[in-house]
Amino acid sequence: DLFQAQGRVSFDDVEFAYKADRVILPRFDLELPAGQTIALVGSTGAGKSTLAKLISRFYDPSHGTISLDGIDLRQLHPKDLRRAIVMVTQEAYLFSGTVADNIALGKPDATRDEIVRAAQAVGAHEFIELLPGGYDTEVNKRGGRVSAGQRQLLSFARAFIADPVVLILDEATASLDIPSERLVQEGLQTLLADRTAIIIAHRLSTVAIADRVLVMEHGIIVEDGTPRDL
Ligand code: ATP
Ligand code: MG
Repeated sequence: DLFQAQGRVSFDDVEFAYKADRVILPRFDLELPAGQTIALVGSTGAGKSTLAKLISRFYDPSHGTISLDGIDLRQLHPKDLRRAIVMVTQEAYLFSGTVADNIALGKPDATRDEIVRAAQAVGAHEFIELLPGGYDTEVNKRGGRVSAGQRQLLSFARAFIADPVVLILDEATASLDIPSERLVQEGLQTLLADRTAIIIAHRLSTVAIADRVLVMEHGIIVEDGTPRDL
């Protein structure tokens, strides 16, 4: 029985501590309406990844409730949760296997057609076709023949094929050359369309395309506005 969510995420009096004596996120409320792109920025250690991990239920709040469309995440079947909320982290961009395998991780029963369409959607198809084995080229964790920008595009294709209502992206900090930067930015925009997206943003170009920007310091959201406000 599949959970058909719209993608509204609510934090209700949420507090979080990894260890009881050190609160990382003091109590807060936050409403993320369905379909928006939210850029989350702030200095290192501010709590951005912690917030992202709470939404994907790597951890549960120490107090309060996080819900999807008004339903407590703890009440969702793990299978529904994994379908609805996908997190893309910069550490886990590639696994050992073919390019096609890496994309299909987002949808294990994907056909080759679906894989190619996902790659086309995010702008990865052209470079894949130029690899010696095309979609059957073996890659590994470090990427092998695949550049940093191309790795990001493959992770976008994987997330696109999974098609979650809520996407969380911890953007890579690696700097890219200008053509790759442009490709990644275009791929990102396609990936963000029609879903709620929370991006831990390291690029100004990403902040600029967000509907809303949250600035975090010491576990507290200190600014909340549009990119123009900030
Ligand atoms: P960065 O920009 O460097 O990725 P961040 O904003 O993502 O930083 P978090 O990783 O959320 O910050 O860390 C917030 C705080 O929680 C930091 O003080 C960090 O030391 C602490 N922390 C993070 N993970 C754990 C953990 N697994 N156990 C204990 N403390 C943790
Ligand atoms: Mg982080």
